Amino acid sequence: MRIKIQFLLFVFLCSCLFLIFCQSQSPVELSVDDFDFNGPLGSQGATITKVARNHFKVIPGHAPNHPDWPNMLQFRIKDHAKGNALRLDVEFNQSSEYPFNDYSYSWSCDGKTWHPVHWKGYQVNINNSNSDVMVFPEFTGNTVYVGHQAPIAYEDLQQFITEWEKSPYVKVNIIGKSIEGRDIYRLEVTDMGTESSKKWVHHFSNQHPGEHYAQWRMVGMLEWLLSDAGRDYLKSSINHFIFMMSPDAPSHGWYRVNGEGVDMNRSYRYLGSSETEQAHEAYICQKDLESLMASENPVTDLWIMHTWRGAVEPIMIPGPEIGTQVGTLSEFREIIIKNDPLLLVEPIKTEELDMANSGYWTHGPHAQFGITTVLCEGAATFYTVEKNKKSGIVLMKSIAEYYH
Ligand SMILES: [Zn+2]
Repeated sequence: MRIKIQFLLFVFLCSCLFLIFCQSQSPVELSVDDFDFNGPLGSQGATITKVARNHFKVIPGHAPNHPDWPNMLQFRIKDHAKGNALRLDVEFNQSSEYPFNDYSYSWSCDGKTWHPVHWKGYQVNINNSNSDVMVFPEFTGNTVYVGHQAPIAYEDLQQFITEWEKSPYVKVNIIGKSIEGRDIYRLEVTDMGTESSKKWVHHFSNQHPGEHYAQWRMVGMLEWLLSDAGRDYLKSSINHFIFMMSPDAPSHGWYRVNGEGVDMNRSYRYLGSSETEQAHEAYICQKDLESLMASENPVTDLWIMHTWRGAVEPIMIPGPEIGTQVGTLSEFREIIIKNDPLLLVEPIKTEELDMANSGYWTHGPHAQFGITTVLCEGAATFYTVEKNKKSGIVLMKSIAEYYH
């Protein structure tokens, strides 16, 4: 009997120790205080409340002057993320033309390596619901960054530029400052040692700041130009890149706008740039384009980089060089097909200038200067940085071959 009691006591003690051990191993749960919506990747006006263990409800804020346009859900978990799997119930209290859950999001422990994460109700570009749920896998680090598509903060762009600037083929132009005082960069990529008057001049820019896949596409293009494969084309081309027309946006989670709440794609003035009639940053970018057009190397073709459903989808309003100084559009299509074994880019379509859209960057520059403009959409399901960069390489390689 005595032995039996001793044995039971022993088992009881072991169980207690095991429970204490287990508890010391389980992570501290996340609290509201761990979330920061005001960093380089932010979401202006978002509020968060606890629902249950590692389960929170978030109400996004909205774009300036657009109570019905939710900001994208971007934040940093400052601490205690490791070992926790997070669930967010996100609810926007207005009906919205532009929902927060059109695209997938990404998370990262270092702000560099991004892992896609999808909405529970996610369907590319056809989800108009005002509430959705996002469940993250167990985090592997204590700090976690979350952002729209695969995000690029303004500070990330600055870091990229610091690296790119080391190349003798890259010139960094600061063409103006945003409303909140951030630099608006135009990078010029060319071989400065060759005669410039005989060069093709390509211009690539991103209007909607939440469309980061389009920005990664442009990163792929620029990196290809600086690679051994692309360098030769720099002798006969100048390539301008504006990665962020609205650099104030990533820290606020604005999808389409600048600080004045103006849709950045609908901010062109074909009659000429005007400080009083345009969004501040759009005016700076158009004025800069006008100065390029008046220079000895005017822009040949202007690529307006966006994201939308499907693969990358270029839609061109042809300028005078198409089919005359360079090959036909069918030849351009064939070049893309040849360079695109993964089918990342759709065949180039064409459209005609519609003056009703002359206030858009997609039509305005053609209306003003008669140059080739290309609205480059798509990539909504290219969830990773790599895939988006690859699509940019296909495009840039094909542009180089077509215009060579
Ligand atoms: Zn867009």
